[in-house]
Amino acid sequence: MIHILGNVDKWKCEYKKCNAKCCTPGIPLTIADIKRITALGYSPGDFLESDDANQELRIKNKNGRCFFLGEKLECTIRENEPLVCRLLPFKIMEVSYADEPIMRLKPVVDCPGKGSGKKIDKKKIEADATSFLRENQQLIRNMRKKGAKGVLEEL
Ligand code: SF4
Repeated sequence: MIHILGNVDKWKCEYKKCNAKCCTPGIPLTIADIKRITALGYSPGDFLESDDANQELRIKNKNGRCFFLGEKLECTIRENEPLVCRLLPFKIMEVSYADEPIMRLKPVVDCPGKGSGKKIDKKKIEADATSFLRENQQLIRNMRKKGAKGVLEEL
């Protein structure tokens, strides 16, 4: 179940105005995200860090920002960006697998792109959020069983 808290009708990513503030280190990845990125020619060791304690695979930090943030603040993997980045202008507030999978999303605070650009396709956001929940749940199970090393060996 996806809960979108707060409303944004239109949005355009104004990354130059906010200094790409969403492109922080540690964006969580699913296996499908990792496969899309490695298909571009990156090897997992280039851009991935693992967190066995939290059962997460994340994008590495480069100079305090996301590894894929370019010199002009552009996303250098734009067409293949991770599911979490596709949820913008919403950020994940909570993910829970207690009973049924739940994700709560909230608009990014002080985003300068809110209100301009294209109409937000909520159905697409919900579909991407649902994919993340499903893929992330699978990743958590596999990380518990095999650890990051075992999961990455199967890529
Ligand atoms: S993958 Fe691209 S959009 Fe996502 S945080 Fe990194 S630079 Fe930003």
